[in-house]
Amino acid sequence: MADPAATPGSVLVIGAGPVGATFALLAARLGLPATLLDARTGATRESRTLALSYGSRALLERVGAWADCASRAADIHRIHTSQQGAFGRVLIDRTDVGLPALGHVLAYADLQDALDAALVRAGVEVRFGARIAAIADDAAHATVTLEDGGTLSASAAVLADGGANLSKLPRFATQEKDYAQSALLAHVTCDRAHGHTAYERFTPEGPAALLPAMDAQTYSMVWVSSHPRIDELMDLGEPAFLAAFQQHFGHRAGRFLSASGRKRFPLRLRTVQPRASGRIAVIGNAAQALHPVAGQGFNLGLRDALMLAEAIAATPGDAVRALAGYADARAGDVERSIGFTDLLVGLFGNDHAPTRLVRGAGLLALDALPLARRLLAARMSFGAPR
Ligand SMILES: Cc1cc2nc3c(=O)[nH]c(=O)nc-3n(C[C@H](O)[C@H](O)[C@H](O)COP(=O)(O)OP(=O)(O)OC[C@H]3O[C@@H](n4cnc5c(N)ncnc54)[C@H](O)[C@@H]3O)c2cc1C
Repeated sequence: MADPAATPGSVLVIGAGPVGATFALLAARLGLPATLLDARTGATRESRTLALSYGSRALLERVGAWADCASRAADIHRIHTSQQGAFGRVLIDRTDVGLPALGHVLAYADLQDALDAALVRAGVEVRFGARIAAIADDAAHATVTLEDGGTLSASAAVLADGGANLSKLPRFATQEKDYAQSALLAHVTCDRAHGHTAYERFTPEGPAALLPAMDAQTYSMVWVSSHPRIDELMDLGEPAFLAAFQQHFGHRAGRFLSASGRKRFPLRLRTVQPRASGRIAVIGNAAQALHPVAGQGFNLGLRDALMLAEAIAATPGDAVRALAGYADARAGDVERSIGFTDLLVGLFGNDHAPTRLVRGAGLLALDALPLARRLLAARMSFGAPR
């Protein structure tokens, strides 16, 4: 395979998932030549549903991918948050932030299709079926060696593969916190229309969420619990599963009628340090994988992509400096988003009576204070403030 000469600002992106693809599209718009390498051999088989913030939608619009997503995405107009078996609830509405929607709900596969099409339109080279043997850098280049023996060089390499190749980069250290929980995802239909309301309900087992789908009476549901409990729920027949979910979630959204497509994901927090070293940087899930309680993972990854592309475009002749600048610039946002997510997991995953009382008072106060509600709404729609 030819080894393309490295030009200033050229980038090899390992992983053409939602974050790597968005990064390459941003790079192309900034005049940086990017080549994507992905192990998949065609359309993604990923089945999860993503809640996207309004800020993420704006970024997808900017790279020309939103038009294809819009007809497949459900809008979130309000978010209803409550806790099981205790008082207090908060309702955040799109009018709190003056936006047409607080966010959107979209299948990962639909998002990926839209990004793949945008890459073709933008003329970005994507090599599918690429199997990476090694990633290295020296004073002049970053080099990726493929298992078939071919090599590619550029001024920088970006790892956006969800972390699959991190073990090939000993300079990047991984830290993990196991929440000892899994998330069960499914689609549920209800006897009432959702009216574009998303629900988040905190329970001693873990959070449960309902995200409105395109169909007016269908939600994507997330049920977080211990591994053994999720094992049991996965094995239940549909009527027993529906009854268990109804009891767990309550009747706020209506009566659940059917459930399909149950899948489970183990939950852990994984972070990587440093985020950049020499000519190699990590972004998206390769850099941090979060608990889905606040639906922030992808939104955070998109902000990685934006900042890295802007940093390289600002100093295309000095990739090492650009990547170091990216790592510095991202530290605050990532720390705050992880802190916020971890706080929610800890605060709401605890069933002590005094904590329940404080949580209830907190939810009531949030609901009563327009400014606090607006701040929370802004965080949910744009991510952590800089
Ligand atoms: C259950 C669950 C629910 C979630 N819900 C939300 C949510 O509501 N909102 C939200 O913002 N985030 C959510 N997330 C997080 C979100 O899915 C991720 O943040 C997002 O997918 C990250 O995108 P990425 O492109 O960085 O990585 P990935 O989506 O992991 O994509 C990685 C890409 O790299 C490719 N690849 C993999 N291995 C290799 C290899 N060896 N070589 C080359 N290429 C490779 C893959 O084919 C893929 O295209 C959720 C996560 C989970 C597990």
